[in-house]
Amino acid sequence: MREANDGKVSVLLCNENYIGRSRRQQSRVPATPRSTVERQQAAKGLPPLAGGQVQPLPVSLSSQRIAATAACWFQWQCIEAWVLDDSGFSGPSGTRRSGNFNNASSWGRLGNNKILRKTEKVCNYWVQGKCSYGDKCRYLHSWSLGDSFSFLTQLDGHQKVVTGIALPTGSDKLYTGSNDETVRVWGDCQSGQCMGVIQLGGEVGCMISEGPWIFVGVPNVVKAWNTQTNTDLSLTGPVGQVYALVVGNEFLFAGHTVAVVSLVVGADRLYSGSMDHSVRVWNLETLQCVQTLTEHSSVVMSVLCWDQFLLSCSLDQTIKVWAATESGNLEVAYTHNEEHGLLTLCGMHDLEGKPVLLCSCNDNSVRLFDLPSFSERGKIYAKQEIRSIQTGPGGLFFTGDGTGQVRVWKFVAEPTVSA
Ligand SMILES: [Zn+2]
Repeated sequence: MREANDGKVSVLLCNENYIGRSRRQQSRVPATPRSTVERQQAAKGLPPLAGGQVQPLPVSLSSQRIAATAACWFQWQCIEAWVLDDSGFSGPSGTRRSGNFNNASSWGRLGNNKILRKTEKVCNYWVQGKCSYGDKCRYLHSWSLGDSFSFLTQLDGHQKVVTGIALPTGSDKLYTGSNDETVRVWGDCQSGQCMGVIQLGGEVGCMISEGPWIFVGVPNVVKAWNTQTNTDLSLTGPVGQVYALVVGNEFLFAGHTVAVVSLVVGADRLYSGSMDHSVRVWNLETLQCVQTLTEHSSVVMSVLCWDQFLLSCSLDQTIKVWAATESGNLEVAYTHNEEHGLLTLCGMHDLEGKPVLLCSCNDNSVRLFDLPSFSERGKIYAKQEIRSIQTGPGGLFFTGDGTGQVRVWKFVAEPTVSA
């Protein structure tokens, strides 16, 4: 791995006023004895990193008025971790509570009531605005199928695939990141107005928000912005592109190179999906790998925690639902088969509070499933693969595709069947 800061180990306690100074002086921060780091780690309950490289960052991720904090990162297994201390973060993400998932045996049990459909292909002429068949056309004159959600608007501007969509807490703006090396800021979803373009100087591999913070993975670095204080930081350490970011247990984790392509935190576990077809389960307290799941036969593209279950999807065309046995190990509780490789998972609730799984496929579609039945309740089409899906408040959700287009969708009340 690359030795950031010339391999120096340093800890800097700093407050909000000090951040600017510490950033300018980042390359000249004096070395601190390793024992300081070990003390810091011990204080945080972390195990000593025997032989590992510990690289505390001379920056603070504190929000307003947090007096003193230290952040450090270390590397293991191609996952980078920064300690986030007193950060004002709202808590672990990825853990979604739902009372509907108490019985693993109900996965996939409620039948296959597939939605009614026309020929499932978007009309090429309609896309170009010149289909003369109107309602009689056998192809779709719509970017979606299904009654329970509707298309609101599209956000045009990115020139390449959209790799991250974020809605930071306390902000009314939407942030989108792309391989076109920019993050775009959108004023409101209705007008589709772009408020700003931020040049990153490298392809955006992923982007998340946590509290007021936005974290953007670009090659060899994670950029962090506080959207409330306008503080920005560069977190060095990763080698190569950063493909996955997640916050949990006061850590920010970054998966980089191609070894880790997806991350999620649930309860006291971190799950990493990999190019090597495995999902690794990490204990967040000890930071030890406690289990390796090897049931997938291709790249694990996305992992998602929902209640006590782990969901994983893969280019092997399956979604697997994992549940813990009495021993605490995860086993496959249900496998859902698709006809295409699966790219991204996202979970949300519809307006009635029913859990919905959104899953993008490499046939340029997103499928919406009721859970736990996996009944298909809708489908979204795009011109290219949809690589990012993000949920918003009030039934809003967002998709970003390979052309750079971002679409805004919203769940609507289910139509009532008249007697
Ligand atoms: Zn047509």
